[in-house]
Amino acid sequence: MKEIKNSKKSKESTESNESNESKFKLSSKYCIILLFLVLITTLMFFNTFHTKYDPLKYVSNDKQIYSASTPIVLVHDVSPVYFEEMEEIIEVLDNNHYSTRTYLFVITNHAGDNNLSDYPKFVEYLHELNDRGYHIQYHGYDHIGGEYNCSEAIANEKTDKSLKILENCGFNTKKINYVITPRYILSKDSENNFLKRNFTIIVNSYILKPKINKDIEKVIITNKEYTWYTPENCTEKVKNISLIDYKTSLKENKQFTLSIHPKAVNYGNGLEILDYFLFESNKEILDYYQ
Ligand SMILES: [Zn+2]
Repeated sequence: MKEIKNSKKSKESTESNESNESKFKLSSKYCIILLFLVLITTLMFFNTFHTKYDPLKYVSNDKQIYSASTPIVLVHDVSPVYFEEMEEIIEVLDNNHYSTRTYLFVITNHAGDNNLSDYPKFVEYLHELNDRGYHIQYHGYDHIGGEYNCSEAIANEKTDKSLKILENCGFNTKKINYVITPRYILSKDSENNFLKRNFTIIVNSYILKPKINKDIEKVIITNKEYTWYTPENCTEKVKNISLIDYKTSLKENKQFTLSIHPKAVNYGNGLEILDYFLFESNKEILDYYQ
């Protein structure tokens, strides 16, 4: 009798062990699923808040999906030679909350005598701007003449050297994929060099974008510069013209880009014109879409 009881007990205990085990298996399964979901959510959160907004990426001929919007600023000749001028320009851009809509086109060895690696303070400044949303991109190696009006081999060599310098300065070269060549000059061979590297090329009136199927999309833009050593007595006239151009560009549904050069924009009332345009064009886009 006792034996029967014992065997019953042991059977019950085995059953309860099995049920506990299956409960444990089930709960560990849920735990794994829960952990997986937490991981996915964290990754999505991280991706959303750490992928920089890149307005140039969306400029397209497909007007079904793309509408021209707020101007994009293209700063040429970003070089340690213009450190002070850059600080003044950035102050105006910051005041107008323009960091993520501004692309800084860097010269890696200005005049063949100003290797970026030799200017750690300027490099640190560019990193700080990069962290705040500005886009560090590529302008040229030495900026002597139309340096990219050359053979593919030379274009290739110059680009390799520049990317090496940028990499040595701690920039993620995988994220450097926009180029404006000095004076917008580039040979067909240079164009090939950049397109093969998946660079989007900005020329004075259009953008060349490489596509996944190896096609190239040519997008016409309105690219203007109003502050090339503008005489002071032209300030009001230039302010008016800049807004008229912007409104026209919006009506034509063409993306408006504003090009500026350090030193040239710092001359006379250039920075005042820049500040006026950024502030007023922002109001203009709000009116346009109301
Ligand atoms: Zn330039």
